[in-house]
Amino acid sequence: MKKLTFIFMTSLLIACSSNKNATPAIEDFNYSVDKFADVEILRYRVPDFETLSLQQKELVYYLTEAALAGRDILYDQNNKYNLTIRRTLEAVYQNYKGDRNSTDFQHLTTYLKRVWMGNGIHHHYSEDKFTPEFTQQFFAEAIRSIDAKNLENVLQPGQTPDSLIAQLTPVIFDPALYPKRTNQEHGVDLILTSGNNYYGQGVTQPEVEAFYAQMKDPNDPRPISYGLNSKLVKENGKLIEKTYRIGGLYSPAIEKIVFWLEKAATVAENDKQKDVINTLISYYRTGNLRTYDEYSIKWVEDLASQIDFVNGFTETYGDPLGMKASWESIVNFKNVEATKRTEIISSNAQWFENNSPVDPQYKKDKVKGVSAKVITAAILAGDCYPATPIGVNLPNANWIRAEHGSKSVTIENITEAYDQASLGNGFAEEFMWSDADREIAKEYGSLTDNLHTDLHECLGHGSGKLLPGVDPDALKAYGSTIEEARADLFGLYYIADPKIVELGILPNNEAYKAEYYRFMMNGLMTQLTRIQPGKNIEEAHMRNRQLIAAWVYEKGKAENVVELKKRDGKTYVVINDYAKVRTLFGKLLAEIQKIKSTGDFEGAKTLVETYAVKVDPKLHAEVLQRYKKLNLAPYRGFVNPVYTAIKDASGKITDIHISYDENYVDQNLRYSREYSVLPSIN
Ligand code: ZN
Repeated sequence: MKKLTFIFMTSLLIACSSNKNATPAIEDFNYSVDKFADVEILRYRVPDFETLSLQQKELVYYLTEAALAGRDILYDQNNKYNLTIRRTLEAVYQNYKGDRNSTDFQHLTTYLKRVWMGNGIHHHYSEDKFTPEFTQQFFAEAIRSIDAKNLENVLQPGQTPDSLIAQLTPVIFDPALYPKRTNQEHGVDLILTSGNNYYGQGVTQPEVEAFYAQMKDPNDPRPISYGLNSKLVKENGKLIEKTYRIGGLYSPAIEKIVFWLEKAATVAENDKQKDVINTLISYYRTGNLRTYDEYSIKWVEDLASQIDFVNGFTETYGDPLGMKASWESIVNFKNVEATKRTEIISSNAQWFENNSPVDPQYKKDKVKGVSAKVITAAILAGDCYPATPIGVNLPNANWIRAEHGSKSVTIENITEAYDQASLGNGFAEEFMWSDADREIAKEYGSLTDNLHTDLHECLGHGSGKLLPGVDPDALKAYGSTIEEARADLFGLYYIADPKIVELGILPNNEAYKAEYYRFMMNGLMTQLTRIQPGKNIEEAHMRNRQLIAAWVYEKGKAENVVELKKRDGKTYVVINDYAKVRTLFGKLLAEIQKIKSTGDFEGAKTLVETYAVKVDPKLHAEVLQRYKKLNLAPYRGFVNPVYTAIKDASGKITDIHISYDENYVDQNLRYSREYSVLPSIN
């Protein structure tokens, strides 16, 4: 998955103005909604929603309700006090009778907005605990000043507002407590030092590793995703899994999800889709990971339906050991026009696999079912809200991908929002070397960026194979970075291939340079805008980008392939030889595929630790200073549209209306009112 784009979007979608619930036109749409701390909140359009049939709209509606119903789960997964903190802050925000214009109250408001953005007390991207700017004293006074009945859904039995203050103050203010949500730092116990809630109090990394090692059957060619949907806790000195399911952990929220999924099943587009939904329901009832695999296979094989969704414990980036999954949901429908592009890529998947620079022994003889489509997101939820990926490739289980393929999507209405919100913000003028670089970016940047995402998702993740007997988790904490690098490199290598022009996907043999320049500039310099001074790079996608860019820079140094040039005391990326950059991308792809295929932990470690983690403090400081002057937010999140079911006198749904006018604060407060059923401590 890739995240940010900043280049002009060339394809305009024209909305029909005669329909009273038609999609607003791009030029009439206000993309930017809110700005605080290091975040800008955007809204996104849902083009063509009005062209769906009533049954399809109803299906989307039920699935969006199922998506929003899981919101609290992620908060609790991210840290055990997140729900208590969110509810306490919301109670203060809504009931505080003191001076709402005071600096302290403003700071509390900003902090609450950040908690919504991070789904908890840690930054959504850096995963560091953020620091409140209001005082401990104000926090205590504000809580004492509101009526205790406003804290009804917060206080545990026997708890008073004062003991609540005592409980939360260190969690919010003490920098040494839960400093990181997911710790990836080498050489410490990653479980004990992570602030998330996937493991119980006192559970250690060696204990977790031993627990799952004895559970795994190394001879099972179709292993379940061990530990995916449970919290591992110690009870009476014994480790046990508390499974996320109806009757288990998070049951109240999962019951709601299932309630809406059951309604969705009644309006499914076809029997196959109905079966997908029903299998997911039965997994939520039992927590059985074999059923989850069954569901994943049915889901990946449902290619006919126009409406699609992700709903479940899916991505494992939040667990330092990469086993436990955070809850997320995206509901979407196919963007038919744009999907033609990815269909061309997918139907040539075998050609790409055969012609890649990878050693033949690591290639797939038969690339199966690489399906790809461009989608329009209808709702973002759980770990996809407010921050969201712009591409998704699922399922994650290696054996399912090998035997049944994977589904790959690019979320074009989200990239549209990014692009439109970034027009003319001065970024390209500040950081790009020349007018020529800017010209080519303006002309082809959006197209090639979307295409790189397509290649990454449609071909990259699905390419290559593990040698027999190689443990899919062999690369451990380095696995995510290596996997993302593999997918990115596959895309980078092929975006410059004449085959892409031959297939009519790019108009000429120059366009790819827009993506090469963007990628190298981002990986070597501008993504550092997202890192605080003195910090290393932690997040897997960012590590992967620096790994690739820094490796290519270093390996091409002797021939001056890529330069970091100075002008007026400012550093710029200059690419002198695009063809050699491509060759180097190909070399690194071969190297990384070998590491993945052979489960070479030491190889992965060396590459990541050498190129992907450390930051040049001087360059970092310069980039931050230049970026600061532009006054841009380095991160973006989203608000969702609001869907309203229109019913006739008998209660039958006659239409689903969509509106775009809800702001960030109102939306989060409403979600907390309408979709919050979990206890504060689970
Ligand atoms: Zn990816």
